Amino acid sequence: MICRRVEYRDFRNITQAVLEPSPDVTVLNGLNGQGKTNFLEGVFLFAGVRSFRTAHENELVRFGAPFAELKLFFHNGRREMNMTLRWLAESGRRFCRLNGVPITRLSETVGNFRAVLFCPSHLSIVREGPPMRRRFLDSAISQTDPSYLRSLQKYNAVLAQRNALIRMSRERRDDGLFLNNAEPWSEQMAEEAERISRKREEYTGRLAEQAAVILSDMTAGRETVGISYQTPRSREEYFKLLTENLQRELRAGFTLYGVQKDELKITLCGNEAKAYASQGQQRSIALAMKIAEGELSKEYGGEYPVFLFDDILSELDETRRQYLLKGVTGRQVLITSCDRVETEAKVLRIEGGRLI
Ligand code: ATP
Ligand code: MG
Repeated sequence: MICRRVEYRDFRNITQAVLEPSPDVTVLNGLNGQGKTNFLEGVFLFAGVRSFRTAHENELVRFGAPFAELKLFFHNGRREMNMTLRWLAESGRRFCRLNGVPITRLSETVGNFRAVLFCPSHLSIVREGPPMRRRFLDSAISQTDPSYLRSLQKYNAVLAQRNALIRMSRERRDDGLFLNNAEPWSEQMAEEAERISRKREEYTGRLAEQAAVILSDMTAGRETVGISYQTPRSREEYFKLLTENLQRELRAGFTLYGVQKDELKITLCGNEAKAYASQGQQRSIALAMKIAEGELSKEYGGEYPVFLFDDILSELDETRRQYLLKGVTGRQVLITSCDRVETEAKVLRIEGGRLI
């Protein structure tokens, strides 16, 4: 996937600009608040369904302008393509065209252009609790396997029903309500749980392999990362857990077993990364996981996604910075930074929403 050119019009603080990144690495350099993240967000919007910064899409329109428009020219590995996105200020409504043809369904806009974004908040994958890691895993797997997303949605719906039954049973002080009616829910949960946990295990195995190589390259062989997922359970095992602990669940007030409790373990040189890794080390691990995600996405889609790295260089030592700035042949990378960086990569300066 190569992003050749992006045209911006009244998008955030960018009145009008044309970005032509190098097919390898491009650094967007500038002071705080000048529009670096805005330029990256503009590229990412073509890949994702939503912005990573806002749920209110009318925020994308420059203050006072009637609409915002972005146009992307890219090569998808087979041919040259272009896509246009437009947002109206008043309603926040979005319009999309692919090679000039209007697209109305959201699902059809996804997957034409692929990109992997890394921004500072993604550090939470390493730093925070299990839910962030599950979310990372779920989103990464869903992008390469639509049937996974369907299983997950079904599972979550059944889990919510089962939890509602527990709550109702407690409110009415009627234990029998849950004890006698839990089985069909437990059965459906167990079925999807087996599917989900097998896929999580398989994906984690491949992700761990890739991330280990990447982190080792990034640190000149000094650090190793381990990523592991528990052994997947069978449907029978899940069902057993969900039927033999009903009293305990009733006391707790919610469902105690299932894939919503899974943990992805991350270790740095053998120690738990969340507790022991330094800031820069945690950032490196999260980056290695994101790059590995791109690597697996290539196995699936045949092409590397475009990598968008927002503000990742601070806290990283020179070896790590150079690994990211040199890039790897065949991968297109856009990096923002407010420091001036030593690099042979293409550097573009951004001031007040303009490319200098
Ligand atoms: P930093 O180095 O601090 O991350 P940055 O260069 O990434 O800064 P951006 O986040 O891209 O900066 O945004 C810069 C500016 O864009 C902000 O000052 C913000 O006020 C402005 N901005 C955001 N949305 C709009 C909008 N809809 N219209 C006009 N300006 C906007
Ligand atoms: Mg920024």
